Amino acid sequence: MSHQDTTVDLAGIGIGPFNLSLAALADGVPGLATAFFERRANFAWHPGLCFPDAMLQTSPLKDLVTPVCPTSPWSFLNHLVESGRFFDFMSARFETVSRQEFSAYLGWAADGLASTHFSAPVEDVRYEDGHFRLQFTGRPDCIARSLAIGTGRVPLIPAGVVTGPDCFHASRYLELRPKTAGRRVAVIGGGQSGAEVILNLLQQEGAAAPASISWISRRDGFWTLQEGGLVDQFFTPGYLAAYREMPLEVQARALASQKFASDGLTPSTADEIYRHLYRRRHLEGRGDVALYPGRDLLHVRPSGRGQMVVSQSAEGEAEVIEADLVVLATGYRASTPACMGGLAKRLAQETDGALALGPNYRVVWDGPDDSPIYGLNQGRRAYGVIDPQLSMAAWRSAVILNDLSGRAIFRLAEADPLVVWRAAPEAGGKDAGFEQRLTAS
Ligand SMILES: Cc1cc2nc3c(=O)[nH]c(=O)nc-3n(C[C@H](O)[C@H](O)[C@H](O)COP(=O)(O)OP(=O)(O)OC[C@H]3O[C@@H](n4cnc5c(N)ncnc54)[C@H](O)[C@@H]3O)c2cc1C
Repeated sequence: MSHQDTTVDLAGIGIGPFNLSLAALADGVPGLATAFFERRANFAWHPGLCFPDAMLQTSPLKDLVTPVCPTSPWSFLNHLVESGRFFDFMSARFETVSRQEFSAYLGWAADGLASTHFSAPVEDVRYEDGHFRLQFTGRPDCIARSLAIGTGRVPLIPAGVVTGPDCFHASRYLELRPKTAGRRVAVIGGGQSGAEVILNLLQQEGAAAPASISWISRRDGFWTLQEGGLVDQFFTPGYLAAYREMPLEVQARALASQKFASDGLTPSTADEIYRHLYRRRHLEGRGDVALYPGRDLLHVRPSGRGQMVVSQSAEGEAEVIEADLVVLATGYRASTPACMGGLAKRLAQETDGALALGPNYRVVWDGPDDSPIYGLNQGRRAYGVIDPQLSMAAWRSAVILNDLSGRAIFRLAEADPLVVWRAAPEAGGKDAGFEQRLTAS
């Protein structure tokens, strides 16, 4: 060990909202040394899609800490108070907050915490003498007893797509600020990111307006988010506990049926898009926007006249759309960061490329139990639909910190869930067939 190296109990790779939640909760734990490393120079939350009118799809109370430690100084409410705008915020009577405002809150916490380090890409992680050694260029190593991988998901580029300056992933939209005026623009993907890009294009008026806008989606319709108190039961610790107990095939069915509880369009965005379409078609007599649901993208390639977008309809017909600019709002996929490459063979993986997680968000690996690696945003299969969402970020952080410290620092007992998701074991005699019926149905 060089005399400059730092030694901590927990080192985090990546500072997105999930590792930031871990950093914020760990901040109040006496005797626990942590360090979190981010490759960016400053905190940023999906900056390429942070449109001024984009709203958070979850309550701001489901922030970095509040669900498990409302007295932490790193809450959204404390951020409002510290920035002197609590009463103005309340008077605005927002139903939720903009992503820009939530991102500013996250940035405030990231700047305020002593454990966060920016411009610090983790280049390599080794495991030696019972510890993890994180290596960087131009800064001392960090030696840690445990690791938290919080590097997020990476943009998914569909097979058959040739990317370039006129065909790129939506995650870079505001960074690249492509020229859209007078051009034919195609957006691929019918989820919220696709909708936000479409809305942004529809808002360009006059000389700034695109020549045409095409919206292509594999989904058979432009589905909005399913919301409400009963749907929100999927985003609770009670459901998470039930999900963890389900057989694999029941989990798979649950994930499929809950798709639009987590992955649909925000209703206000969908309404605004529709009103734009109505106005253009019926009040302005324009026919410059077309929506194509139920299309499977086959390929996107540069052609002599721009980009050729070829898709297949539900009836199996191939369709060709020509565009000058193609924006791929095609989602994200799980990945293991390159810096874990040296350990990759020792880490178990799910079929979707995510790290396999056991209890307490521990990555399944062949190392000793007292050297845990925690996986954040790796658990869509293992922990369910809630895992990539902000809703349970603080809860997950508390589970991890309790596990790491070997004691119940955070109280995680909730009242019995309102919904009886599964037959209670003691009711086995009365309804012994419940589990089998679930599996068979
Ligand atoms: C546009 C958008 C809007 C969303 N809105 C909502 C919402 O309203 N509500 C909700 O519940 N969920 C939302 N989500 C889902 C989820 O909350 C976010 O994706 C969230 O950012 C996930 O956090 P994360 O910490 O896992 O990853 P990220 O936010 O992706 O952060 C990962 C960080 O790791 C860094 N990194 C990667 N490799 C290294 C390395 N080797 N060394 C150092 N740093 C590294 C990256 O630079 C990045 O900053 C949204 C997702 C998107 C894409």
